[in-house]
Amino acid sequence: MTAKILDGKAIAADVRAKVADEAKRIAPKLDRVPGLATVLVGEDPASEVYVRSKARATVEAGLASFQHQLQADTAEAELLALVRELNADPAVDGILVQLPLPAQIDARRVLDAIDPAKDVDGFHPVNAGRLATGLPALAPCTPIGCIILAKQVHASLAGLEAVVFGRSNIVGRPLAQLLLQENATVTIAHSHTKNAAAVSRRADLLCVAIGKPELVRGDWIKPGATVIDVGINRVPGSAPGKTKIVGDVAYGEAAKVAGAITPVPGGVGPMTIACLLVNTLRAACARAGLEPPAI
Ligand code: NAD
Repeated sequence: MTAKILDGKAIAADVRAKVADEAKRIAPKLDRVPGLATVLVGEDPASEVYVRSKARATVEAGLASFQHQLQADTAEAELLALVRELNADPAVDGILVQLPLPAQIDARRVLDAIDPAKDVDGFHPVNAGRLATGLPALAPCTPIGCIILAKQVHASLAGLEAVVFGRSNIVGRPLAQLLLQENATVTIAHSHTKNAAAVSRRADLLCVAIGKPELVRGDWIKPGATVIDVGINRVPGSAPGKTKIVGDVAYGEAAKVAGAITPVPGGVGPMTIACLLVNTLRAACARAGLEPPAI
């Protein structure tokens, strides 16, 4: 068997095109285009790349992008003041504070200061709590992307055995909640799980977010299963001094057994930014009392 490859780049482009259509439809009702504010503190090169690509995708989808860059030595109080300003700004529907933050700033305090209605990363405890209790919530972007990818294979996830490896607040936990909402039978595996391979082999839908290069081997996968690999790991490449990116799943082995699989890179990664735009539209609609966008 050779697995169907879930092309995250193409699927994300499709989601972004839908965001652009919906933004056009919603703008006259809001009397403005939906807007996303990004906040970057310091000059971490990886964070700069992420924030720039988020801002570019925002503008390309026809949304307004408000970019804020603060010095690396910014005091926590100054960042909190900016967050409060953005909370109060009617043109801003979504606020994204890029992590990690410098050591002098308590990231939790900053994330907690974001208005939950504008929390497009879905990291605020109010949104995590709403998601866990089945109320409408802004959910984290990467898990939303995983659900969209899984639905490329399964029209409905109801009744599927879904196993999620990882229980972080950014990926594993919220992904498990979204899968429950989809009526899957959900198991969460983590660093204390015994017989991880056997647990993994139960899965019709296997989602892996652990940050361990190629930990999940081909013989961990039930034949025909759908495999969503969230991991992004930089490892030594074949040429000396070169590195390459691999997932948490041994792709070559897994693709021989799985029914469908996401590549790394080019699977889950591109979905995350597309889903950030979806969340910005959702936030804009909810704040204006409009129906949620049709995405
Ligand atoms: P994290 O370090 O916060 O959490 C890792 C989780 O994996 C923990 O819950 C831990 O219990 C579990 N774990 C660790 N070792 C394990 C093992 N041997 N067996 C089972 N579970 C184990 O990581 P995170 O922020 O959730 O990210 C996970 C991976 O996903 C990383 O590689 C990260 O780079 C990647 N990631 C990708 C995207 C994307 O857009 N594609 C977004 C976020 C994270």
